[in-house]
Amino acid sequence: MTKTIYIDGLAVAVTRKRIKRINLRIREPEGRVTVSAPYIVSDREIIEFVRSKRDWIDKGIVCVRSRAAAHPEPVTPQEKEARRAALRRRIAARLPEIERRTGLKCTGWTVRDMHTRWGSCNTRTGHLNFSLMLAVRTDLELDYVILHELVHTVVPGHGKDFYALMDRFMPGWKNVRTGLKY
Ligand SMILES: [Zn+2]
Repeated sequence: MTKTIYIDGLAVAVTRKRIKRINLRIREPEGRVTVSAPYIVSDREIIEFVRSKRDWIDKGIVCVRSRAAAHPEPVTPQEKEARRAALRRRIAARLPEIERRTGLKCTGWTVRDMHTRWGSCNTRTGHLNFSLMLAVRTDLELDYVILHELVHTVVPGHGKDFYALMDRFMPGWKNVRTGLKY
């Protein structure tokens, strides 16, 4: 069983296992932080452990992400599948929260190997598509694309109504878009 603990703003996926000591990893390609810990170790001890390694973790996340950004195209089919799985996990974790917060809803979503767009929305069915390229982008950038496509479920084009909803739900979204060159 895995649960997410937020430690000073850092999301850490914690799994209890039959192991002897705490094991911390930074996952490729998105820099997700995971901790495996023995059953007897308390959450408080895990929090202290993560805090003691925070500098190393922050550097590691930057390193993993810049490596992924330097190789936006997965080199092997295995790596591509790993990226797809990791992105699916991230979307599954973030999209319901954004739906709840905004009241917007999609009918379903798919990760696709799209190269020209970050996402798309079928306004007739309410189905969203997300590009595999998002696997190497930050959580904030992913949230922006999820929100962008969710807004399209109620506003098709990029007119005044579209911008009004973006402003309401993600002030500062233009900066994120600039980073994505969307
Ligand atoms: Zn759009």
